[in-house]
Amino acid sequence: MNAAAGRSLYCYPWDVGNAAQHVQRLQQLGMNGATLAVSYHAGKFLRPHAGAAPRVIFPQDGVVYFEPDLQRYGELQPLAHSDPAMRRVLADLLADGRLDIHAWTVLLHNSRLGSLHPEYTAANAFGDRYVYSLCPMQSAVFDYAVALSADIASRGVRSLVLETPGWLPHAHGYHHEFAQLRSNVWLDSMLGLCFCDACMAAGRQAGLDMARLRSTIACAVESYLQAPVDATPAQAHAWLQADLLALSDLAPWLRLRQQRVTDLVSAIRAAIPAQVQLSVIATVQRPTASNWLEGMDLAALATLADWIEVPFYEPDADAVSSDAWDCLRRVGSPAKVRAILRPGPPDLGDGAQIATAISHLAQLGVQELSFYNYGLLRPARLQALGEILNAGK
Ligand SMILES: [Zn+2]
Repeated sequence: MNAAAGRSLYCYPWDVGNAAQHVQRLQQLGMNGATLAVSYHAGKFLRPHAGAAPRVIFPQDGVVYFEPDLQRYGELQPLAHSDPAMRRVLADLLADGRLDIHAWTVLLHNSRLGSLHPEYTAANAFGDRYVYSLCPMQSAVFDYAVALSADIASRGVRSLVLETPGWLPHAHGYHHEFAQLRSNVWLDSMLGLCFCDACMAAGRQAGLDMARLRSTIACAVESYLQAPVDATPAQAHAWLQADLLALSDLAPWLRLRQQRVTDLVSAIRAAIPAQVQLSVIATVQRPTASNWLEGMDLAALATLADWIEVPFYEPDADAVSSDAWDCLRRVGSPAKVRAILRPGPPDLGDGAQIATAISHLAQLGVQELSFYNYGLLRPARLQALGEILNAGK
């Protein structure tokens, strides 16, 4: 194991407490970095650490964990967390100086902004808005993402870790998702495509028949929902592949979406100081290669970013290896890949699996590692991870 390589633990601001003590804890676990949420969404988190209060936390939705420089922003404005202590965590960790601080920045998955600005949210083929997903084809959304990234990067962080620079998939992002029919990759993909005014205009400008594409997809989904059938997973995958060939405007449209996300990341790179590294989280889905639905193009992004940060959230080390092999094929170099591993349920259930996954990644040339997540893992899991990392130094 390369001792100089990054070892960073994902952390929420509400789990940090005293910055100096937190840094010491992470160093004892063999970490040289912390990946701190600085722009984050709502959720419900069970906290196993001794004395954690509240034991179950519902963080404020779509807020930032620092004092934003509001002059930088246009129509879409960030909102700072209401608790000044939460807004100080980033500055305190940076002032401590012993760890590399990576700013985990959720960009377009923001239901607070989506509620305030429904006109900028993604809209499916039926025109239904997804409040949790701002559409990057909208100029105001694009500008907000660039301004937020530049604002955070100006604070002295080692890297920006961008999450959701593109479209959220249909089956992600909202609490209490209800459907009394089985989801499948074909249905989720069709419902994950945005046909908002900006997307329609961008497609038309590229010569695509967007109205026909939208109505074909709406008809297919409508018919499927009415039919007394349920696709098997294999059928749904095959249907999606067949539609990618059959709908002549679909693949060019998906590539246009990828270009838009690449353009956004390029604009972010240009807006942040040269010494701040840029990392892009490859996907919020499994397996990683399905990320084209979010508008991600790993090969293009790897030419802009210092790191493609890949959540290898798999049940065993072999699945981590095969997903990594495919990622490397797309990214081009293991030196650009930062792995995120989850050393606890539902992934990599025991110490042996996590050690094997780390060793498999090293064999593929992937040396940079992040781990998820300080506040969610039991102390015993963190301890076991720390022993593995410290033994490898
Ligand atoms: Zn759109």
